[in-house]
Amino acid sequence: SSKNAGRNCFQVYSAELKAEADQRNVLEIELREAIWREEIEVFYQPVIELGTGRVKSVEALARWQHATRGFIPPAEFIAVAEAGGLIVELGNQVLSKACRDAMTMPVDVRVAVNLSALQFAGTDLVDTVRFALAQSGLAQSRLELEITESVFLADTQENLRTLQRLKALGVSIALDDFGVGYSSLSYLTAFPFDKVKIDKSFIDRIDRSETVAVLKSIVQLAKTLKLSIVAEGVEASEQAARLRALGIPLGQGFLFSKPVPLADLSWQGHAPQRGRQAVA
Ligand code: C2E
Ligand code: MG
Ligand code: MG
Ligand code: MG
Repeated sequence: SSKNAGRNCFQVYSAELKAEADQRNVLEIELREAIWREEIEVFYQPVIELGTGRVKSVEALARWQHATRGFIPPAEFIAVAEAGGLIVELGNQVLSKACRDAMTMPVDVRVAVNLSALQFAGTDLVDTVRFALAQSGLAQSRLELEITESVFLADTQENLRTLQRLKALGVSIALDDFGVGYSSLSYLTAFPFDKVKIDKSFIDRIDRSETVAVLKSIVQLAKTLKLSIVAEGVEASEQAARLRALGIPLGQGFLFSKPVPLADLSWQGHAPQRGRQAVA
């Protein structure tokens, strides 16, 4: 009967849900072990000055090479870390590693680290950042922290204060994935960001006049607010050319380089000097 079919349907559905939940739990347990053993790696993707082709900064991106399942994308395991209460520890590891690695890079190159909104709720993030800088010896001006608007969705006042204290440390703050949220513009007025990273979805559609109009207004806004702008997900040289023509100075994407291990970064045209010096 249709009643039985409905019940069977429900059973199949719940069995599927259970399998999915079990898999997620297994992944969480394995992720906890991987973090414990410090197996999460950090790759770096260059941010390029479009006019000169020079590397201005590198973005640290977490990588998990699972023993049997292979590469698991951060979009997957960061969410698991957030749900499982592991993101503060994972975030600290990435931050410390990125600061240490930056000490081996040319002194005119900054390093950018992504922060989860949940890292604002854990132990004092400002202490954590201060500690990572002190431990590595990296100059504050060479560290950039990338946040998304999710930081403004919970505990807004408290998070805003934390952001202000971070900025007071001398690190710079970038608004990531700009333009895809619900009220990106309002967040630009809520905090004096140093940089906005325009989401890849705009770059994908840069051949449309509507997109060009939006990008032009972002460029104007950035000028007024004295913000630096990066275009994310640049894959084609025509896109880079259009970005340059629009006056967008910086680009990041597979056109220039995929995220790579520290040892694979190339520093052509940079002074060989390494270490803690501040970025002008
Ligand atoms: P995100 O911060 O916006 O980082 C940029 C993402 O775009 C990276 O994906 C990068 O590999 C990808 N990408 C860069 N250029 C191109 C391109 O030309 N084409 C395409 N298709 N993709 C490009 P990834 O490494 O998979 O990271 C995804 C997201 O995971 C990041 O987005 C960030 O939100 C998060 N994530 C990664 N590492 C960390 C971390 O250490 N901490 C936190 N909280 N989040 C992280
Ligand atoms: Mg980012
Ligand atoms: Mg982004
Ligand atoms: Mg993104």
